[in-house]
Amino acid sequence: MIERRLFLKDLGKFGIAMVVVSACGSGPTSDPASTTSASAPGGSTTTQPGLEPFSTPASSTAPSLGNGFGASTVWERVNLGSVSAYVLARGGEAAVIDTGTAGSAPAIATSLGQIGLGWADVSHVVATHLHPDHVGSWAAVMEGAASASGYAGQADLPSIRSPRSLIGLSDGDSVFDLRVIATPGHTPGHISLLDELAGILVAGDSLNGTDGTGLTGANPQYTPDMETANDSIATMAGFDFSVVLVGHGEPVAENGSALVRALVTG
Ligand SMILES: [Zn+2]
Repeated sequence: MIERRLFLKDLGKFGIAMVVVSACGSGPTSDPASTTSASAPGGSTTTQPGLEPFSTPASSTAPSLGNGFGASTVWERVNLGSVSAYVLARGGEAAVIDTGTAGSAPAIATSLGQIGLGWADVSHVVATHLHPDHVGSWAAVMEGAASASGYAGQADLPSIRSPRSLIGLSDGDSVFDLRVIATPGHTPGHISLLDELAGILVAGDSLNGTDGTGLTGANPQYTPDMETANDSIATMAGFDFSVVLVGHGEPVAENGSALVRALVTG
């Protein structure tokens, strides 16, 4: 039994944070989400009630990939104006997804600080794709998050300048408990990331937001292969999620799957 509770927290100019508290009713076995993650060995799983999502994680908390059970997940939008990056925190660890335009690292650091974390807590930095408004601060973020691993879709990898080597991601991979969905078209190596337990899709530029209630497909002006991009929308429509976090426009907080499926049939 999985109980999901999604909270939207207004963080002013820093945008919204989506706090997902996942609790397990009884019998915390057979977690379907854990099958895709590198399960943490050892039986010393700390049981945290997870009902204080904005409390600063205890510094003694052992690093954990987190399986979503009994722990809070915080998704935070870093609203950079023309583009958004996102921070995912759980178990005292964070992932940064996209890095915005050049000069965006301080805003990302501020977002980390909003949830009681800093660069040292960032274990993963992931690019949805190679465009400069998404990897413009890549080097600065990787230098700040000095112990983090960096990732991008395999085909986009060679175009991203990084202070240290990156790990290529392919469809079906898992990083920080996020399922990688290959969504090419906007760029050849574009990836989207699905938090299956929380029901949150990070779509990069494979989708665009409107006013917070709607979605459109990839922007034809910046998408060299619209046919493939539209196939990628059909791929995303095969998954279930509520929230869609986009690079441009407003994220949607509910009905995500339905909105994406409407793009396919419509
Ligand atoms: Zn783009």
